[in-house]
Amino acid sequence: MSDLSCKLLVIGAGPGGYVTAIRAGQLGVDTIIVDGEALGGTCLNVGCIPSKALIHAADEFAASAAHSKKNPLGISHPKPKIDFKQTIKWKDGVVKQLTGGVGALLKKAKVRTVMGWATFVDGKTVSVATDKGEIKISAENICIASGSTSTELPHMPFGGDIISSTEALALETVPASLAVIGAGYIGLELGIAYAKLGAKVTIVEREDRILPIYDAALTKPVLARLKALKINLHLKTDAAAFADGVLTGKTSGSKSVEIPAEKVLVTVGRSPQTKGLGLDNLVLDMDGPFIKIDDRCRTAMTGIYAIGDVTGEPMLAHRAMAQGEMVAELVAGKARVWDKAVIPAICFTDPEIVTAGLSPDEAEAENIEIINAMFPLAANGRSLAIERTDGFIRIVARKDNHLVLGIQAVGKGCAELASGFGLAIEMGARLEDIADTIHAHPTQGEAVQEAALKGLGHALHI
Ligand code: FAD
Repeated sequence: MSDLSCKLLVIGAGPGGYVTAIRAGQLGVDTIIVDGEALGGTCLNVGCIPSKALIHAADEFAASAAHSKKNPLGISHPKPKIDFKQTIKWKDGVVKQLTGGVGALLKKAKVRTVMGWATFVDGKTVSVATDKGEIKISAENICIASGSTSTELPHMPFGGDIISSTEALALETVPASLAVIGAGYIGLELGIAYAKLGAKVTIVEREDRILPIYDAALTKPVLARLKALKINLHLKTDAAAFADGVLTGKTSGSKSVEIPAEKVLVTVGRSPQTKGLGLDNLVLDMDGPFIKIDDRCRTAMTGIYAIGDVTGEPMLAHRAMAQGEMVAELVAGKARVWDKAVIPAICFTDPEIVTAGLSPDEAEAENIEIINAMFPLAANGRSLAIERTDGFIRIVARKDNHLVLGIQAVGKGCAELASGFGLAIEMGARLEDIADTIHAHPTQGEAVQEAALKGLGHALHI
């Protein structure tokens, strides 16, 4: 392959990079995208999508298992079995369909795709190690969308039975026992899924609570579910070593803990993927290990942008995509700036947690007088009809003018409410806007309306 040139070169074809490239292509920008591994990045190949597929399979299996015992629905069938190889094959099929779709969309947008690892030569040139040898790509603009990788524990590096989320999504069998180090959202999502699939799961967390970035009210229903699923939880515990099928740890009170485990899943965070990028050949400002960007995703060097996980928290696919769309439009000459009011986040735990905007604590920390209106799912018909009333919807609004500052939810199926939460905050909704909108019946959405009504002092169904 001979050397190439373009107006925009995108490094990394994850959700950030491929969206940048597609939007740029749509706008007629001559664009090349490079990836060393696979189109779709972490999200489509080893992150969001395969994890949600595994969670779905685990939920289906757990539902069958529940129905093989005496249950209020009157359903009976034999104890289910799982052919886990087939489950993983199905999950791989979902991934393949989506990554293939990304390839087709890039092609449709007339984006040139080069598979290989990119290294900066200088601010306008990148060398790419492809299967067919090294090529140089020169570009007027470069967008770094190189994402992130699982963080390793220095004293327990990945390898053998110590695995990252990537291996946890491709196991051949359900392990009899699984120790999860780190009770953030990735560890909990996968830990809960494997518990439902029949593994004996133990979670070890250094902090004194699960999902430390969420408030206790939101995590309480998840804690109750961990207990119901017989997942052992060791809080305030540091994992020390793993040998001969036993994970050892120490509590903050110096008590030793021994956990038998066939596999140890380490989910202690994600680190920016900058290795091999040749950042030494550039003069970028960094924000700790992340690439520092401004409100247009510009780095310290003219013509070099950075988006997605490599730029720091929140490390979420939809943030990367929104940044990518903006960068493509900037390169095409449009006036754009990062002016999003909110980036919703979802933990696909059981039950799911959704957050958008400010929590009550965060609003109060900003000295804002608030209305904190909570409506329990126990009073929602739809939740009752799907047998899951654990959870609530909470709206945080300004006391003076009722402007909605944040909406949070915890409950089975609440993930699908996230778009409405984001829309309400982005549109500057007041409690009255939500309360006066007809919400279809019977849905969990009605609980959002009821929370707004409650905030106004006249909830109907409580
Ligand atoms: P990535 O998706 O990481 O893509 C970066 C790409 O760049 C990769 O394909 C890599 O091969 C390529 N690359 C890196 N360096 C180079 C180089 N030098 N040359 C060429 N190519 C390079 N987020 C959500 O929003 N919702 C979820 O439910 C969710 N679930 C998750 C579950 C798991 C198990 C994990 C691990 C992550 C999850 N995430 C979720 C996070 C989400 O995957 C990331 O936020 C998202 O993928 C970041 O997108 P990105 O484009 O910045 O980078």
